[in-house]
Amino acid sequence: MSLIVMKFGGSSVGTPERMQRVAGRIIERKQQGHSIVVVVSAMGDTTDELIDQSKLLNPNPPAREMDMLLTTGEQISVALLSMTIHQLGDRAVSLTGWQAGIRTEAVHSKARITDIRPERIFEALEGGNAVIVAGFQGMSEDGEITTLGRGGSDTTAVALAAAINADMCEIYTDVDGIYSTDPRVVKVARKLDEISYDEMLELAHLGAAVLHPRAVEYAKHNNVKLVVRSSFTHNEGTSVKEEAVMEQGIVVRGIAFDKNVARISILGVEDVPGVLAHVFGALAENGIDVDIIVQSGVQNGKADFSFTVSLDDRERALAVIEGIRSKVSYLEATSEADLVKVSIVGAGMVSNPGVAATMFEAISKIGVSIKMVSTSEIKVSCVIAAEPLHEVVRALHTAYGLDTTEQAFVGGPQDRR
Ligand code: ADP
Ligand code: ASP
Ligand code: MG
Repeated sequence: MSLIVMKFGGSSVGTPERMQRVAGRIIERKQQGHSIVVVVSAMGDTTDELIDQSKLLNPNPPAREMDMLLTTGEQISVALLSMTIHQLGDRAVSLTGWQAGIRTEAVHSKARITDIRPERIFEALEGGNAVIVAGFQGMSEDGEITTLGRGGSDTTAVALAAAINADMCEIYTDVDGIYSTDPRVVKVARKLDEISYDEMLELAHLGAAVLHPRAVEYAKHNNVKLVVRSSFTHNEGTSVKEEAVMEQGIVVRGIAFDKNVARISILGVEDVPGVLAHVFGALAENGIDVDIIVQSGVQNGKADFSFTVSLDDRERALAVIEGIRSKVSYLEATSEADLVKVSIVGAGMVSNPGVAATMFEAISKIGVSIKMVSTSEIKVSCVIAAEPLHEVVRALHTAYGLDTTEQAFVGGPQDRR
């Protein structure tokens, strides 16, 4: 008998019929003799709808109240799922994040889990119950309700699996597993049997929404056996593990893209020591994460440089730069949106020269110019104009030999986005 954590995302529980199907999956696992802890997200688009509702009343609500509001979505799900299991003749108990012992930093909207005290989960399991825990939420030491960032239910599931020493954490979603790229964008994307934690971590950070980056971080650090699979079919999913086999002749495991990018350029900066420290120090003090940084050559003692931030931080970043004019002399700061960061990821690329060149060539053949580049041992990212994104991703997919002739099966609804 094993202890298994099963996580179901919003689209898997979006309607009463789907809720019943999920309840059936949980009962099926219980009947196989396993002890089951379930993590569930808010139904369908509930979280987005709650955000829209809040904006009607206050476009800039206090973060504490926002967390109080958004956590209600998951609370609805756990209660409804638990009562559905009862209706189907089995036993279940729903728990909020704090009831399940999930403690977080005292930060709203993107708190990290600091500790899990799972006594209550074990008690409920001993009573023969499936334990249904609300994803995406926790409580700080001072008793405030917090959330873990969009998509954070994955993190709840993996962190719980680590804390209760589960044999496996299954992430059930609306596609069959992890694909070489988003199968809703590239129809010939291939389903991966396995992927390494490091590659998945890069893909998740670079925009592949199928797993929350912190969930992968947790799984890696705690060696959690993680499987992503469909809640709509019984097909085998994708295992995320320490080492994953790469097919002969393939160097790129996957392609991700992220539209949440803005580029800020500071032009005519006086090239004296300490300038970069001032600019990026001020951005960091204001909690603005900077991604790719590019500095151009110096002419007449003046340099230009550009960097990317997330789209939501664009205005704040410009305001911070305006605020340091007394310390840093420059001519002008500008910003650009309608961009996307496209990335290729693969553990094998470090020992394969020419991988980046293939990417640049594939992008240029479509007539798209590359604005910024960044590389690491296992990835290359390019910032380009947002259109024609799908064409670029498809071209890269083909260029790296990733296209499959089998029709990529997408288990869930096609009408999501
Ligand atoms: P859930 O509600 O179950 O958490 P998400 O929408 O967060 O589901 O994640 C699943 C979605 O991730 C899929 O519908 C798919 O469009 C998208 N996705 C992006 N990249 C990938 C990828 N490489 N493999 C599979 N799905 C991906
Ligand atoms: N409901 C939250 C969201 O939509 C958390 C999650 O689904 O993982 O982001
Ligand atoms: Mg998700």
